[in-house]
Amino acid sequence: MQVHVPTSVDEAAGLLANGEGVLVAGCTGLYPHLQPDQSIISLRKAGLSGVETDGDSVRVGATTTLTELARAVPFLRESIDSIASPTIRNMATVGGNLFAPQPHGDLAVCLLALDAQVDKTGDVVTSISFKVPERWYYTKAMRRKQNSASIVTVASDGVRLALGGVAPQPVRAHAAEARLAEGDIDGAAEAALEAADPFDDAYASAWYRRRVLPVHVRRALTNAV
Ligand SMILES: Cc1cc2nc3c(=O)[nH]c(=O)nc-3n(C[C@H](O)[C@H](O)[C@H](O)COP(=O)(O)OP(=O)(O)OC[C@H]3O[C@@H](n4cnc5c(N)ncnc54)[C@H](O)[C@@H]3O)c2cc1C
Repeated sequence: MQVHVPTSVDEAAGLLANGEGVLVAGCTGLYPHLQPDQSIISLRKAGLSGVETDGDSVRVGATTTLTELARAVPFLRESIDSIASPTIRNMATVGGNLFAPQPHGDLAVCLLALDAQVDKTGDVVTSISFKVPERWYYTKAMRRKQNSASIVTVASDGVRLALGGVAPQPVRAHAAEARLAEGDIDGAAEAALEAADPFDDAYASAWYRRRVLPVHVRRALTNAV
């Protein structure tokens, strides 16, 4: 096993393109899947951490941790607090969360609702940019109040509506957005089912996820963060 610690994005992207190892950021998601003889390319020193704000524009370096993002961008704090535990949030990165398989990836659901832009160098995500919305709606149904994976995650800026926990990847609920544009929250809640393709897992059945999705969409849209 070899540990590469590139000091620039170009170096990291080059190592990755040459098959020198697997890319690692906080390693919270990857760790259980790493093989003992697998080489890794750590992004720790690649200079990709930090949050820049300019008016309502936010640019987040890919290796910024979830804790750092919550501190820098207040409207996302409650959403990020619903993810894992403080220990995990201190290590898990914004870029890594884009690749978290469902029912994880709650920040990715938020970024989808924000129509965030992802910048890459080769296959390395370097930063994520979005605008601070005027309104923010978020809810996450879990088996426990803290540190539990999503049964249903709903994020919306009042125009776009994204869902987690109810499909193999985070999805935009376009039919629900159309009803929302008409001010029809009950209609949006029911229409959200059109975007759902739920699965069974240890947290909830597909049947249950489908059953409670409209409830949580309605709950999210009637409670601005
Ligand atoms: C106990 C536990 C509970 C959790 N609970 C939740 C939860 O409630 N909600 C939730 O959303 N998530 C949850 N997670 C998942 C966690 O948020 C993700 O594991 C984390 O965000 C991944 O980030 P990382 O930096 O650790 O990525 P890593 O584990 O380092 O990498 C994960 C994947 O992303 C790739 N990757 C990482 N960075 C980049 C990059 N810059 N460019 C390209 N590819 C990249 C890696 O190659 C790898 O394939 C939980 C995880 C654990 C361990």
